Amino acid sequence: MPFKSLFPDVTIPDVDLLSYLFPSEAQVSSEPIWIDASDPLKHLSPRELLLWVKRFASSLQGLGMVVGDVCMILTPNHIFVPVVFLGCVAGGFIFSGSNPIYNADGKLTRKIFEVRRLTNCLETAYQLQNTGAKVLLVHPSLLRTAIAAASKVGFPQEKIFQLSGDYNLPIYGIKDWRSLIPEASDLWRWQKLTGQEAMSRIATINYSSGTTGLPKGVCISHRNLIANVEQHIIMRGNSLPRDPGTSLPVERWVGFLPLYHAFGQMYAVLLACKLSAPIYIMTNFQYEPFLQIIETHRITHLQIVPPIMIMLAQRPETSRYDLSSLKDIICGAAPLGRLLQNEISLKLGVTIKQGWGMTEVTCGAMHVPEGVSDNTGSVGMLDPCCECKLINDCGDEVGCNTPGEIYIRGPNVCVGYWRNEKETKSTIDSDGWLKTGDIAVVNDKGWFHIVDRKKELIKVNGFQVAPAELEAVLMEHEEIADAAVVGILSDDVEKPAAYVVLKPSPKSQQTETSIASWMASRGAKHKRLTGGVFFVNQIPRAASGKILRKVVKEWAKTETSAK
Ligand code: AMP
Repeated sequence: MPFKSLFPDVTIPDVDLLSYLFPSEAQVSSEPIWIDASDPLKHLSPRELLLWVKRFASSLQGLGMVVGDVCMILTPNHIFVPVVFLGCVAGGFIFSGSNPIYNADGKLTRKIFEVRRLTNCLETAYQLQNTGAKVLLVHPSLLRTAIAAASKVGFPQEKIFQLSGDYNLPIYGIKDWRSLIPEASDLWRWQKLTGQEAMSRIATINYSSGTTGLPKGVCISHRNLIANVEQHIIMRGNSLPRDPGTSLPVERWVGFLPLYHAFGQMYAVLLACKLSAPIYIMTNFQYEPFLQIIETHRITHLQIVPPIMIMLAQRPETSRYDLSSLKDIICGAAPLGRLLQNEISLKLGVTIKQGWGMTEVTCGAMHVPEGVSDNTGSVGMLDPCCECKLINDCGDEVGCNTPGEIYIRGPNVCVGYWRNEKETKSTIDSDGWLKTGDIAVVNDKGWFHIVDRKKELIKVNGFQVAPAELEAVLMEHEEIADAAVVGILSDDVEKPAAYVVLKPSPKSQQTETSIASWMASRGAKHKRLTGGVFFVNQIPRAASGKILRKVVKEWAKTETSAK
């Protein structure tokens, strides 16, 4: 018997996302919500956002975009990303964000800068081609990357536009999207959808490698987003408390999670809008400025990933700032150890709640509910309307206290993979069960612990790393005959490690280090082989040719224990 959520079902409004977020245009708030953390005088209220959403959607229509067309962005976070997200959705288009791998600290050497640009270009080109995007919006700092990526896949340069918090003059002949705003755009109206249409109309495509292979576009519908917002609201305790004196929200958030990822979108775009929670948007995560923002703006709630927990615990700067305004931290996207969780909770005097989710469930599907504290490292309980089965290696459903792979079903489970029927069918069965690749145990009170990961995915600093992608790059090396990549756990952090078979060559000068540096010039920072390179005679493969990852993971465990 599947485990069902212990919370009553939520009613999911049968409307499109914009009608859900803005049920009455006359009552849209004028209080600032999206605030530029580096210049708080720059901000957008929901009323201003809605105006910009109309301008943006009508601009894209003016370019000839029609319902179902994809608009891709390549930008670090800023307060206009929520405009673009909702503007795409309002126009019936599909939003897809690409990882900008942005670093604005200005300390990069020219060589490293060029390497980053090259790797960023390859990833952008892949996503541009895979989505079949009609328009690409790019932050001015990333224009050269975008132009190179576009030319790689034959994307027309006249469909690239600049996007930032301000109006930009043309660079390399590329105009700002605001130059496209048609007259009378403020009167533009979005098309209302029925509940049925909201179920199939795709709003976003976020990239994930799923349980196997290369990154794939995860199709998220209007209804998926609405359902997951409602589920989050129930788990965090219904509505945002307001100060009785001022009636202003008493929560203040920081938005540094990347807005091309589901976790960032859920909080910085959707929940911030629905709950009118002011959020200070950071362009680029840097630890000290992050602490400074918490202190200056009396931030109350954080949404973070485990590497930031490690910083909070270990970095000396932590104690130099007044973090006493913090009340609640939600941590997800990767495993967080119970000891670290409890250490930070004690140190900062805050409640720390874990949540579990993945791109394929829109954002989250398990949370520690409001009003309950947990010090066991649990990822919480099933969100309302969700049910789950735990399946063991023999394919049998298991009960409480026995590990099994999570299969999950609910209104937040994605529509499928973009233009990839085969992967969709092998991930979501005809009854709607999504195979997650995560192994969990549930106790008889409905609390889940993630105990292992069955799928290939490696999570580095909360970013996805697909082993298949790194293996394909390694195989391009002229002296490598075969390779397998797995995650190695070191000091609570996952790191990609490669097992490599060299081609027989008496003259070979290759060392583990030379392979690791060769790779470093071909992938984003989080895709470096920081777990090590190990030469072996053979990669264990099944008769079908598939890498026997279980065996390679066992090798990796020996590597860690030998340290
Ligand atoms: P993503 O699609 O990038 O959000 O990655 C989803 C994956 O991150 C999940 O399938 C898990 O493997 C991992 N993950 C997310 N949240 C947690 C958590 N709280 N504990 C352990 N792993 C997690």
